[in-house]
Amino acid sequence: MSETLEKMERMKAIRDEVINCQKCGLCELRRQNNYFPVIGQGSHSAKIMLVGEAPGLNEAKTGRPFCGASGKVLDALLESAGVKREEVYIGNILKDRPPQNRNPLAEEIAACTPYLERQIEIIGPKVIGALGNFSAAFLMEKYGLKDKIQGISKIHGQVFESGDQFGNKVIVPLYHPAVAVYNANMKETLINDFKVLKNLAKG
Ligand code: URA
Repeated sequence: MSETLEKMERMKAIRDEVINCQKCGLCELRRQNNYFPVIGQGSHSAKIMLVGEAPGLNEAKTGRPFCGASGKVLDALLESAGVKREEVYIGNILKDRPPQNRNPLAEEIAACTPYLERQIEIIGPKVIGALGNFSAAFLMEKYGLKDKIQGISKIHGQVFESGDQFGNKVIVPLYHPAVAVYNANMKETLINDFKVLKNLAKG
C-alpha cells in the first residue's frame, strides 16, 4: 500500500472511532443537535499543522474546522504568510463543540487528545502552530516544554523546539484567530506571528 493510501486509511480509522466515541459528554450533545464531529482538514503530509481549541457552531454544523468567523481570519492570515490552506493540516484539541462554546474541560481534553496525537503521528509535521492557550498548553506539555508554558500573550510568536527525544518538533504558540474577530488591532500581531510559521517550514 502506498504511503498516501496508508495515511488515508489511518485517518479514516480515527474518523470512525470519533464518530462512535462515548468518552465524554460532548458526543451526546453532538447527537442531540445533529452536529458533526470535526476531525480535521488538509494535507496528510503537511509540514505545518495548526491546532485550534474546539469546533464552534459553524464547524459543528458542517464538520469542517475554521469555517466561520475565526476561519475567515485564519484564511487571511495564511494568505498574508503566503501559505495555502490546503498545504497545511488543521485540527483541534476537541473534536466536538462544547455547549455555548465554553472552554474545554480537563476531562474532555484528556478524552479527546489521543485522537489528535495519532493525527500528528500520521502527518508528521515539522512545525505545529498552537492556536490559543489550550492548544499551546497541551502541545507544550506533550513535547517536553511544560516549564516554558505561560499565557499566550507572553509566548505568542516564540519558537520552542522539542529536542531529539520528542521528535524535533517546533511548537509556535499563536493567538487564537478569534481574538481578531473581536479586536481588529490584534490582526497585525497575528500576521507577524504567522510569518514565523512560514519561515520555519521552509528552513
Ligand atoms: N475555533 C477553533 O478553535 N476551532 C475551530 O475549528 C473553529 C473555531
